[in-house]
This record gives sequence, C-alpha cells and structure tokens, in this order.
Amino acid sequence: MGWSIGFDSNWQRDIGYGVPAQCDHPECNERIDRGLAYVCGGEPYGGDDGCGLYFCASHLRWRRNLCEQCVAGKAAFAAKPDVAEWLQHKLTDPSWADWRTEHAREVHEMRMTLGISQGVKP
Ligand SMILES: [Zn+2]
Ligand SMILES: [Zn+2]
Repeated sequence: MGWSIGFDSNWQRDIGYGVPAQCDHPECNERIDRGLAYVCGGEPYGGDDGCGLYFCASHLRWRRNLCEQCVAGKAAFAAKPDVAEWLQHKLTDPSWADWRTEHAREVHEMRMTLGISQGVKP
C-alpha cells in the first residue's frame, strides 16, 4: 500500500499526500496536503522529534523540518479540522463506500459539519 492516504491514530486524522488540508499553524490558512513534504518531524506521526502536524513551507523552514513549537520544545499546536473538500470527498467518493458503511457515526458527524442533513444521500 502506498502512502497516498493513511490514518494518524495520534491526531485522529487522515494523512497522506492525497489528503488536502490547511497548514496547522494557527495564524496560517495556506493550502497544503498531509504528505511527507509537510509533516513536522519528517515522517508520519512526527518521528522522534516532531509533533506530526502538517505545515506549509514557511512554517516548516526550521532545521530538520520541525515547526516552531517543536524547535522551541513547546507543546504542539492544536490540530486543525479537515477541510470541507476532504469531508465531501469521503462522503461521496466510491473508494470510501466501505468506510462509510463501517463508520456510520463519523459519517453522521461529517454531514453535520458540512451542514448536510442526515437524510440526504450524496
Ligand atoms: Zn511540530
Ligand atoms: Zn503555514
């Protein structure tokens, strides 16, 4: 299996270069994906030194690909929620059909997040 899409059980988020996202810096809205190029620590879950959050190039410019919190030895930023485009993809794409069947509660929460009423089928 490639690493286009995976699951980060630490932050409870989908990760991989196939997942569109926002930079996790609280003051930044830069559009990135959750691939290896953007992860704090340089590997999924952040490796030994990183927090495993995802940052744009300007917030991951420090040595060893760490965010400013990890460079300073501070607690990680709060993880940002998934972008609407990704929720929409998971709710409608055929490749996620099995997942939707097995995760009814998450599907419900995602629909609430997107403002789609429960009765509407994608
Ligand atoms: Zn970090
Ligand atoms: Zn950023």
